[in-house]
Amino acid sequence: MDVYKPTVGELTNEEMLTALTLCIKRAQELAFADEIYALKNNLELPLKSNLRAFRPFLDEVGQLRVGGQILHASVDYSTKYPILLPADQLVTHRILWQHHTQNLHIKSERLLTDLRTHYWIISGRKEIKLVVNECWLCKRRSSKPIPPDMESLPVYRLIPYLQPFTFTGVDYFVRLIIRVGGRGRRHEKRWVCLFTCLTTKAVNLEVSEVLSFEEFLLCFARFVSLRGKLMLAYSENATNFVAGEQEIHQALTELIE
Ligand SMILES: [Zn+2]
Repeated sequence: MDVYKPTVGELTNEEMLTALTLCIKRAQELAFADEIYALKNNLELPLKSNLRAFRPFLDEVGQLRVGGQILHASVDYSTKYPILLPADQLVTHRILWQHHTQNLHIKSERLLTDLRTHYWIISGRKEIKLVVNECWLCKRRSSKPIPPDMESLPVYRLIPYLQPFTFTGVDYFVRLIIRVGGRGRRHEKRWVCLFTCLTTKAVNLEVSEVLSFEEFLLCFARFVSLRGKLMLAYSENATNFVAGEQEIHQALTELIE
């Protein structure tokens, strides 16, 4: 049976744990040099030390751990005596980042609770915030959209008790292919003229055979016959609408004269 042998640059779990232990010890030596010196020489911790409250001790591999009163608790050794991790150290940030990303980007409080089964981070909440605030995925998930500055509503949206379609928007939409006739039937194109009430958003549909201004005038006449007079109609600058508007305007002028 072949035994798996790691290649150069690839580490086994045991080697990774050893490397992690060395990194933690190095970080602790940088941050807690006085305390480690005192513990190694059986001296009292310096009076100004922040670690006095933790009653720290060095374990068998030389890592600084939190002392405690739960010796007889049925929990893991690391939970009883978590490893002390200093703030502002690269290894602390890397451990935080690894746990954060491996556990589906958990939030700060949950991350702190999970990590305390193995590590006690000095100024833990502050350090976790520093790490989590750099995570773009969490930033994107927690960010809220900024509502755009909206213009004031037009007057026709604010006049109450208006008859529907007093102010109307008009446009054409979708070209339909319809089937015409029984035997020898054929397919023809149709357009839909859409009238929208700008106050109530009610819609009225009229079918148009071609996109000409004559057809638009027929649609418009049907619409006015059905819905009553309107005060204003808005449309885009399409040829059939412009020609239709000119035709209506001319007819009204002739009628007045
Ligand atoms: Zn994240």
